Amino acid sequence: MNLIFLGPPGSGKGTQSLYIKEEYGINPISTGEMLRKEIEKGTEVSKEIKKYLSQGVLVPEKTILRLLAKEISKEVYVKGFLLDGFPRNLNQAKLLEKLINKINKKINKVFNFEVNEDVLLKRISGRYSCSICNATYNKYFKDTLKNGICDFCGSETFKKREDDEEEIFKSRIKIYEQNNKEIVEYYSKKYLIVSINAILSPDIIFQNIKKELTT
Ligand code: AMP
Repeated sequence: MNLIFLGPPGSGKGTQSLYIKEEYGINPISTGEMLRKEIEKGTEVSKEIKKYLSQGVLVPEKTILRLLAKEISKEVYVKGFLLDGFPRNLNQAKLLEKLINKINKKINKVFNFEVNEDVLLKRISGRYSCSICNATYNKYFKDTLKNGICDFCGSETFKKREDDEEEIFKSRIKIYEQNNKEIVEYYSKKYLIVSINAILSPDIIFQNIKKELTT
């Protein structure tokens, strides 16, 4: 089963990806995460990628497609993959179709996470994660149990994503809105789109996703 999650930054796609992995053994591919890992390598390409990410604008298609093609053909995705953060525009949706046709796969469902901008801003500006084990938190919705100590590994150091700052976030949302409409239209014509009310609690959202996957 191969799935796509569409939704603005902070709409809860990452959380649902983890639930899907646990329940169905389908591994998520977050293209944002893939790029951040590439940056850590410190190569010439990573310097270029960093420039785009820190401005909150899209990385060129050639670069991201090369990385995605390499990732998607890995053994861990034989049971299926869950794309989070790709496609980001209509052209990427068309390129994705070519890429997965080549490896004889198809997309089974596309979930569109819908949530309003005010909620998103809180979710994004409040989010941070443990520098050691990457557990995620939010100062408004889900703080650590003990102040300043990671619930999972006990670390006292935390990090925030540079592109979660308010101005950069707003630019990311604008790009998202411009492009998402046409991606939704593209997959609607293929009868693959499912709308998800992403304001609900993570457990309810997951129940709704599961219902769609069993029909
Ligand atoms: P995300 O973690 O999905 O919010 O992505 C963080 C950043 O990675 C974005 O603001 C873009 O700069 C870059 N990025 C992620 N996915 C893509 C994509 N499909 N195409 C181009 N750039 C991307």
